[in-house]
This record gives sequence, structure tokens and C-alpha cells, in this order.
Amino acid sequence: MNAERGALREVAREFTRREVAPYLQGWEDAGEVPRDLHRAAAKQGLLGISFPVEVGGGGGDLLDSIAVMEGMFSEGASSGLMAALFTSGIALPHLAASGDADLVDRFVRPTLAGELIGSLAVTEPGGGSDVAGIRTAAVREGDAYVVDGTKTFITSGARADFVTTAVRTGGPGPAGVSLLVVEKGTPGFTVDRSLPKTGWHCSDTAELGYAGVRVPVRNLVGAEHSGFAQIAQHFVVERIALAVHGYGIAARSLALTATYCRERETFGRPLLANQVVRHRLVEMRRQVEVARAYVHEVARRHVAGEDVIAEACLAKQTAAECAAYVCDAAVQLHGGTGYLHGTEVERHHRDARILPIGGGATEVLTDLAARLMGYTP
Ligand SMILES: Cc1cc2nc3c(=O)[nH]c(=O)nc-3n(C[C@H](O)[C@H](O)[C@H](O)COP(=O)(O)OP(=O)(O)OC[C@H]3O[C@@H](n4cnc5c(N)ncnc54)[C@H](O)[C@@H]3O)c2cc1C
Repeated sequence: MNAERGALREVAREFTRREVAPYLQGWEDAGEVPRDLHRAAAKQGLLGISFPVEVGGGGGDLLDSIAVMEGMFSEGASSGLMAALFTSGIALPHLAASGDADLVDRFVRPTLAGELIGSLAVTEPGGGSDVAGIRTAAVREGDAYVVDGTKTFITSGARADFVTTAVRTGGPGPAGVSLLVVEKGTPGFTVDRSLPKTGWHCSDTAELGYAGVRVPVRNLVGAEHSGFAQIAQHFVVERIALAVHGYGIAARSLALTATYCRERETFGRPLLANQVVRHRLVEMRRQVEVARAYVHEVARRHVAGEDVIAEACLAKQTAAECAAYVCDAAVQLHGGTGYLHGTEVERHHRDARILPIGGGATEVLTDLAARLMGYTP
């Protein structure tokens, strides 16, 4: 890691110690993070990292984002916290890349300044894995699209000021999908339910309703019918980011557990005095190191311009499995304390469960990788 990235990681660590760690349990209990946190992260220069300066970002690339994420996880930020605070990372890339100055000025700049919150709505109650099969309809009427449908499992959906929504403007399949920005307060657009979850408690997750919502044509992102290609393109970074969540919470859980095993005594000696405990910690470390190294490698190749769609799928799976193992082992080694609500390793253990599902279930991503790698009949 170069010096600049090291400094960025340090800023992220300090920000987390000051602005996040002391309040996180309160936000978990409240079910959302406050808007002020978005403003504070923007002021600190964290929210805009890897977005071009021309659209209001802070410049840099995915490797800089990873430095920020690693810094935050190392000080106790949770996967849910990162999902909530950085929902901009999935809501904005399509708008920023479309090059439309109006969309950039109305949505990208204010979001990266921490003034607006955006969401990305692709998944529908009928199924999330089959993105090309979405049904939410957008029918052109004059200078607007009329949108009807339902989206579910939408991160930051209850708090969002605008939602980048995948809609069907054309025929069946991927060629009929477009992206439209739907703004809060537009008649017919509703937050129908907030969805309680196993983990990610501080990240609000919502079901959204669209009933005859008139969305101006100027809110179309990129060309009509280009939505599927845009979603697929930006999924790569989302999957690498979720992979960072995986080894990030695993590394933090390991650090907490190593300290605990040094301090906690059973049978008159520290847990660390047991070889089986030491070996468990080494195995946890091995999995973290492997996941981190592989995810870094895939991210580096992405930044270098290589096509890593398949590798991003494998990176996410590798890191999700690392998190599943390590976070579970962390709870085990904390004993009863590890099972208590409010113990940090317990939060990471619950949060880890979403990683093989969100952003594409492992089975679906494995199938995608199989096709891209030519393992087809
Ligand atoms: C907390 C949370 C936050 C989320 N945030 C967002 C968001 O911000 N925006 C958004 O659009 N979506 C979001 N999602 C949705 C997420 O991306 C979907 O849950 C995911 O894509 C899986 O879709 P599904 O839940 O409909 O599962 P389904 O598609 O119904 O699949 C169910 C299960 O079946 C298996 N499966 C499915 N297809 C296959 C296959 N072809 N072969 C083998 N096995 C298969 C997998 O195990 C899969 O988990 C979020 C979900 C959660 C839980």
C-alpha cells in the first residue's frame, strides 16, 4: 500500500473511532444510521472516494475505497454500517458514468456531499437472482414514464431521497431493462414496509411501491434499454466491495478474539494456553490472509482495466466463506459472551450471513463464472 493510501486508511480509522464506534449499538437498535453521519463522512473526504472529481467525488479508484473500508472495519465499523453509509456506492455509479450533467448536478453531487441519500432498486418480490426477469413496468407517456411495480430488500430504501430503479421499458429479457431515478415524494411512490433482518440492523431495508408513478424522461440514466448492461457493469465493484466486507469483519473478529483468548482464563490458565485454541486462531488468520490477498489481486486487475467479472464472483464467495468461518469461530471462542446482544463479534456473526446472498447469491454467481470460464456443455 502506498503512503497516500496508508494516510487515507488512517483518516478512515480515526473517523470510525470518533464518529462511529461510540454510537453504533444505538444505531443498530434504532434500525438506521443518522443523516449527519453522511455529512460527516463527506466532510472527512470519505464519501466521495473513487468517484471522479468532475462529478463531485474525491477522485481515486477502487483500491482507495478498499483502503477506506479496511480502515473502518479495523476500528469496529460493521458490514451493515458500511452498507448504509456507502449505499451511494451502488446508487450513483450509473448516474456518474452516464455523463448527464443534469443527473450529476441533481443527484450525484449532493449525495457525495452527504446532503442526499440514494438507493439502488433492482430486486423484486418475484425474485432477485434473475435480474433480466424484472417486471416493474415503465411506459412512456409524453415527457414521462409511468412506473408500476414493487421492489423489495432495498438498502437505505426507507431513508432514500431518490432511488435508481431498474424498470422494464421494452420487451422481455435483458434488452428491455432501463434505469430511472425515482424521487421521494413523487405521487404513487411509497415506502410500503421496513424489513426486519437477522443482521445489518443499522442498515434500513425496505419494500417500495410504484403505483402509476410519473417519472420525467430526464430521469432516465443512460440510453433507454441499456439498464441491464449498466447494472452488470457496476455489479463487479459491488461484489468486490462485499468481499472486502467479508474479510474486513473477519479480520476485526479475529483481532478481538485473539485479545479475548489472551485475557480469558479457564481451568486457571489463559485460553491461549490451549493448543487447539492457538491453532483455531491461526486457521482464522489463514482464511483472512487468503481472502484479503485474492480480493486485492482481483481489485488490482479491475483497476488495471481487465475484465474480472468471473473473478469478482469468486472473490465474493471466498471472502463470504472466510467471514462465515471466522465470525462463527470468534463467537465460539468468546463462549457465552459471544452470544450476547451487543458483543461486537455477535454483530459480525449475524452480519456475515448476508454476504453469500446479497449482490448475487453464491450459486448464481458460480453459474455466471462457469459460463464466463467456458465450463458449459
Ligand atoms: C439485507 C439485504 C439488502 C439488500 N439490498 C439490496 C439493494 O439495495 N438493492 C437490490 O436491488 N437488492 C438488494 N437485496 C437483494 C439481494 O440482492 C437478493 O436477495 C439476492 O440477489 C437474491 O435474490 P432473492 O432473495 O430473490 O433470492 P432468489 O432469487 O429467490 O433465490 C433464492 C436462493 O435460491 C438459490 N438460487 C437461486 N437461483 C439459483 C440458480 N440458478 N441455481 C442454483 N441456486 C439458485 C440461492 O441459494 C438463492 O439464495 C438485498 C437483500 C438483502 C437481504
